[in-house]
Amino acid sequence: MALSPLPPFWAGYLMVLTALLGLVMGSALHCLSWRIAREEGWGSGRSRCAACGHTLGPGELIPLVSWLLQKGRCRHCGAPISWRYPASELTLAVVYVSLLLRFGITLELAQNLVLCSCLFCLSIVDLDVQLIPHRFLLIPALVRLGLCAWQEGLTQTGICLVRGAALGAVILLLVMLLDKVLGKPSMGGGDIKLLAMLGLFFPLMNWLLMVMLACVLGIAVALACGTKRGVAFPFGPAIAGAAWLTLLFGQEICSWYLGLF
Ligand SMILES: [Zn+2]
Repeated sequence: MALSPLPPFWAGYLMVLTALLGLVMGSALHCLSWRIAREEGWGSGRSRCAACGHTLGPGELIPLVSWLLQKGRCRHCGAPISWRYPASELTLAVVYVSLLLRFGITLELAQNLVLCSCLFCLSIVDLDVQLIPHRFLLIPALVRLGLCAWQEGLTQTGICLVRGAALGAVILLLVMLLDKVLGKPSMGGGDIKLLAMLGLFFPLMNWLLMVMLACVLGIAVALACGTKRGVAFPFGPAIAGAAWLTLLFGQEICSWYLGLF
């Protein structure tokens, strides 16, 4: 564990702070993604109840706590508030704490917090409108390349960039081939760009592991949701989940696998 050199009190304190940050960011980014999916402006006023339009007061905006205290209902009209709010807040809290435990207080942690926050946003938009906005691909890509240039030099940054582009090109060719064989689109353009962007973050072996995980997660979720054959299914959230798992455990799984030979 990356925090083990710290005394237990400080490690615990950091974890609580990170969980709170995750809850607050989960709430804010869920709201932001919701507005982007519906093409509302980023700053289109205070949050409102989706049923009655009543503007939410400060007491109704505390992540998780407000939802629990109000028993999942609007204080004004009593309409049910979607479980997606507390679920997305909790999800980002778990993701943030897991990254802290994996990477400790490092620049890598900052980079992966940005990556996972953007993956979270694009998953919500993709679930709602089957679209992956470019800004959530560009932000982590620029952070990754900037940090790579600063820490490892321009040669490594070039290699990283070529790897992302090459992996994107390979996936694009495979998808075009698959489309021809199936006679219908198999994967959205946004998913291909997302996989290429993640090629900047992972070495080849870890990236392949991530793609396999994404397929398994995607099929599992499609089966669990009872998605019918032939109906377009948002693949972005499965790729996002697989990328998070690969950040946490990819290195160990790849080393274990290579040790088998
Ligand atoms: Zn209401």
